[in-house]
Amino acid sequence: MSDSLDFLQPYFLGPQGENAQMFEALLVELVRDHTFWRRNFHPEDGPSIRTSSQHAPESIEFVDRMKTELYALSGELKRAVPFFHPRYIGHMNADLLMPGLIAGMATMLYNPNNVSEEGAPVTLEKELEAGRQLARMFGFNLDPEAGPCAWGHLTSGGTVANYEALWNFRSVKFYGVGLQAAAARVDFDPPEVGPLGKALSAYTAWELMNLSLASIIELRRDVAVSFRNDRGPEAFEDFAAAVRAERIETLGTAGFFQQHADLAPPCVMVPASAHYSWEKGMKVLGFGTANLIKVDVDQHMRLDPAHLEVCLDEALEKRIPVLAVVGVMGTTEFGTIDPIDAILRLREAYRGRGGDFGVHVDAAWGGYLSSVFRLPDGGMRSHAAMRETFRHFPSHQVYRAFGALADVDSITVDPHKMGYVPYSAGAFVARDRRVVDFITQKAAYVFDLGGSEEAVPMDRKLRNLGQYILEGSKPGASAASVYVTHKVLPLHAEGFGRLLEQTVHACEQFYDRVLAMAKRLEHLVRIVVPFEPDTNLVCLAVNPAGNSSLAEMNRFGRELFSAMKVEPDQPVQVKRFIASYTSLLRDNLPEAQAERIATEVGIDPESFRLRPDVDAGEADHIFILRHTLMNPWLRREHDGQSYIDRYLEYLEARIRTLLHPPAEGV
Ligand SMILES: *Cc1c(COP(=O)(O)O)cnc(C)c1O
Repeated sequence: MSDSLDFLQPYFLGPQGENAQMFEALLVELVRDHTFWRRNFHPEDGPSIRTSSQHAPESIEFVDRMKTELYALSGELKRAVPFFHPRYIGHMNADLLMPGLIAGMATMLYNPNNVSEEGAPVTLEKELEAGRQLARMFGFNLDPEAGPCAWGHLTSGGTVANYEALWNFRSVKFYGVGLQAAAARVDFDPPEVGPLGKALSAYTAWELMNLSLASIIELRRDVAVSFRNDRGPEAFEDFAAAVRAERIETLGTAGFFQQHADLAPPCVMVPASAHYSWEKGMKVLGFGTANLIKVDVDQHMRLDPAHLEVCLDEALEKRIPVLAVVGVMGTTEFGTIDPIDAILRLREAYRGRGGDFGVHVDAAWGGYLSSVFRLPDGGMRSHAAMRETFRHFPSHQVYRAFGALADVDSITVDPHKMGYVPYSAGAFVARDRRVVDFITQKAAYVFDLGGSEEAVPMDRKLRNLGQYILEGSKPGASAASVYVTHKVLPLHAEGFGRLLEQTVHACEQFYDRVLAMAKRLEHLVRIVVPFEPDTNLVCLAVNPAGNSSLAEMNRFGRELFSAMKVEPDQPVQVKRFIASYTSLLRDNLPEAQAERIATEVGIDPESFRLRPDVDAGEADHIFILRHTLMNPWLRREHDGQSYIDRYLEYLEARIRTLLHPPAEGV
């Protein structure tokens, strides 16, 4: 059974709990350690609970109820989804890495609250270090002497990290307009300030809305210094209050735009393939989903830079500020990778035309794959060296996208997805931590006035984490999980990357074998991979040979899938494999793509078109099977067959049965 996967054996509890003894021994040790810790905190006080109390009738009754409920829960949990098993290839779940699982369980006993250092003297620093570990993996700078310094922290998940990206961008984007209004209010107009070297009042609203973070910081400092020289330090407080009063965070979106009627509300551009959290984010921030612009995807289900350029041109022409352009690294449905490098090039060009926008990468799924590209010394592996390891991965486009990450403004990444740590653990990582001075809920006049930015060192400020993030109380246990995982498996090609390489190998094996199967079964069905996998997700469209009706194809697909889905009222043990599905939405595909895919799967392109006379229930999507190939044991062979072989064999048998149901009575 020895093969290239053997190095992974100690990483996980295992599909059959193979490492149970080690796992249990470590847990017991850490639980005991915790109890000793309790006993060592003022042992002179003596016990508050009498050991004999366990014999009291009330205690007996309580313990009885507790046990009853715990056993019932534990029993019911047997209907949970067996994420840990290589027969599970559905959503973005697999077995958990033991270091993080044990770290999280043990830390939970101490229940640290990472909202501030006061509640988490140990784990708050671990959280900030986890942020640095992720930042390093992406190629961000961490040396404060060497330019903008990155920081990152954990969130409940990718959704909140995405909200936070918008929240951060907003705090910078609207600052200049607020500052100008505040200065006007106190009748102050400094000459020659900011990047354009002119009077504050001479800046147009458009100019103020299109300054980079660095330029806004420069403007803020110039104005503050000028104010202090002109009016003296005693007047600081009033001016700071005026600035706060004029900010969008104070006025609210409606109030702000009422006051600045010459400004259009900002838009955010995301690819049509983006996660639905972006829509929620636009609602949460009050910008509205009408201002979420969906950029077309190309034939690889990646953001189409040509269409992004069209959208940007239109925004420039209509003077609509662009708050951010989002690229997705590992789309939730297809695992595809947007051209981050092209987005950054377009921003350079846009800046040349007086516009600007933040660039955020939603790498909730694909972010950890950066570890495969990262050398232990921090450099990037060469493309040539990587191509020696894989058959297809990474394509030139994918390689360039990962290489460009170091230059984006912020990144969402989910340790609870491809980081193999327990929920809840998402992360938000920003390239330039100075952005937090625009976020803080505290009276931030020290920073607003640039009086002494270094008065409180950034590292110390961030220990008041709750001031700078969307969430409040939050689990230190998650921070411990993520931190310990990264310590045991550093985020580079020889650490974490080795594990993730296996998922790409699994994907390549799956892809190659699907193509072979498609050929072998072409007389029965058309099996199409609508987008070549960029990472470790593969989707399949399956259509009975000769069928040209989309409705029939979707019906067949759903039937095929029905045996592979989790049903809350059925024991999971009856499932042979668990996969997931998704829909290729007509709305999200440009005309040419919709036509190409329809033709490839053999359906009439007319039936995949939104028209009043066609049942929209079927015309608006193509049902496809979706497989997330992140389980470490997918290529493990039993009797010469990998789990991938077994799954495809099962799929083939299902297809045959559905096409030729056994005659009744046989
Ligand atoms: C999963 C995912 C999200 C949302 O993350 P949660 O952790 O579920 O909140 C956002 N974006 C992408 C691309 C994702 O894959």
